[in-house]
Amino acid sequence: MNMAQRPLWWLTVREKTLVYPFLWKLSLAGDSLAAFPRGREGDYIKLLLPKDPGQDLHAVDAHNPDLNAFFKRSYTVCEVDEISSALTLYLTRHEANPGPAARFVDAVQVGQEVLLTGPGPVDQIDVSAEHFLLLGDLPSLGAVLANLRRLPASAVGDLIFEAPVPLSLIDDACPKGVTVHYLTGTLPSSETHFPLMDKLQQLKVPKLRLGVWAACEYSTMKLLKHYFLDELKLEKSAFYLTSYFKQGATDEQHKQTRRDEGYRD
Ligand SMILES: Cc1cc2nc3c(=O)[nH]c(=O)nc-3n(C[C@H](O)[C@H](O)[C@H](O)COP(=O)(O)OP(=O)(O)OC[C@H]3O[C@@H](n4cnc5c(N)ncnc54)[C@H](O)[C@@H]3O)c2cc1C
Repeated sequence: MNMAQRPLWWLTVREKTLVYPFLWKLSLAGDSLAAFPRGREGDYIKLLLPKDPGQDLHAVDAHNPDLNAFFKRSYTVCEVDEISSALTLYLTRHEANPGPAARFVDAVQVGQEVLLTGPGPVDQIDVSAEHFLLLGDLPSLGAVLANLRRLPASAVGDLIFEAPVPLSLIDDACPKGVTVHYLTGTLPSSETHFPLMDKLQQLKVPKLRLGVWAACEYSTMKLLKHYFLDELKLEKSAFYLTSYFKQGATDEQHKQTRRDEGYRD
């Protein structure tokens, strides 16, 4: 099922919190969330951001929406609170030229209505593995948290995470046996700078059955793929690896590059 066929959700911003200067937490609520599928934390939704700011969100046909009228931006369902019918997203406040989503989150007010579609599936970590290896950065925070919360309390492994400062959100969600290696104070990942990759090369990854999950900037993703296959000798099916953005490229350009270079959407 592609996104065009996934249900639309009209929700209201219940809370908007600047958790860190570089991170918004958005809590979206609505009675319709009672029908939101369960167990989808870590999967993604697409915010539908009108190209025409005057567009009436309620004029959108739920059964045959014209999605060309919107910028579509993917965000991870980090939490769904069934009792209060709220869905939590974490949105990076990055320093690049703001795109539609960055402008939206800076401007959106509590009480404002938003439209989204989804959820779409993301592979989650194999919780039966003997040793876990996770790699992520701010855009993947929601997904990393959802994966950490799936791990057994006895889980052992490593998480390498790129962020300006250590995040208590991660520390609180992390099983004790998983060591968090924060990459702080480094330049963000780009075409010429690969802190996640550099740190991984320094780690001693045990020769056990690994559960590997990674989401990061596009250029780093390509390097990680080779490292997983050639150095860690993992089968393609034994790891989940994707890119959530590409430095210097809009989401549309990033997706086009992925298609051109043979990566699935
Ligand atoms: C499955 C999936 C789940 C995702 N979940 C989340 C999530 O939960 N939280 C989240 O913050 N992001 C998430 N992302 C990433 C998010 O969709 C992109 O960052 C998106 O490009 C932001 O849109 P924009 O309109 O702000 O910028 P765009 O119009 O896409 O790009 C404008 C400029 O901003 C730059 N840019 C965009 N994002 C970043 C970034 N994160 N860091 C630095 N520069 C950037 C671009 O390179 C470009 O130069 C997810 C992506 C995918 C594919």
